[in-house]
Amino acid sequence: MIRLFVPDALSMGARLALGADQTRYLATVMRRGVGGAVQVFNGRDGEWRGVLVEVGKRASVLALDGLVREQTLGPDLDLLIALVKRGRLETIVEKATELGARRIRLVVTRHTNADHTNIARLQAIAIEAAEQTGRLDVPEVVAVEALDRQLDAWDTSRRLIFCDEGGEARPMLQALGARGPGAVLIGPEGGFSAEERERLRAAPFVTPVSLGPRILRADTAAIAALTLWQAGSGDWSVDGVTP
Ligand code: SAH
Repeated sequence: MIRLFVPDALSMGARLALGADQTRYLATVMRRGVGGAVQVFNGRDGEWRGVLVEVGKRASVLALDGLVREQTLGPDLDLLIALVKRGRLETIVEKATELGARRIRLVVTRHTNADHTNIARLQAIAIEAAEQTGRLDVPEVVAVEALDRQLDAWDTSRRLIFCDEGGEARPMLQALGARGPGAVLIGPEGGFSAEERERLRAAPFVTPVSLGPRILRADTAAIAALTLWQAGSGDWSVDGVTP
């Protein structure tokens, strides 16, 4: 089944105008014509089934004829990721979407050396991964901000799981506390500075954790930490409760 993310409101009988990219994908790549079935979601109104009623070269029209699934949201989990090289960052956005992060916030730290990034491209990767993975929402890729600024403005009801490669933190599965909104922080290839580690460790909303005795690359660390969070506090956990 083809799933597409669309910005439009979704309701019974709605007719959606699809643009050039989605039309090309449907007609040329997937070989769907008039009468073809497509499922759509917009992050708000659930997942809907539609039938193509017009297919042109650059535009097509989809008529919605049934609700497939009510809207749901996964656990309230953010990934804070220091900028790393483009290829790795793109992998991280794709995997974080599959692993159920609700927001992906890009961070600049003292030892961050990648300094520019294309948010629109990362957002497109998140949309494609959400289409593929069956989610009903797309994680928001939030513009780059300095770590200090993010900590200054922190909502203290959200526990920040600080992945500290320094070696003195408790194992992550053991350190995860009560359920509730969470965030996972992964540093750059250069690691965190001494001042950053000090500030993070002093903040009452921060839990420093270890991901084991080996130093992981940022992409591996992000995947491992999101997995452990989902297993310990999220929707992979044994009781299956959404925090
Ligand atoms: N250059 C650094 C490693 C940075 S790895 C050094 O040699 O110390 C990139 C990020 O992945 C780290 O900042 C941390 O957030 C996370 N990370 C990697 N391995 C980890 C581990 N064993 N425990 C906790 N976090 C880890």
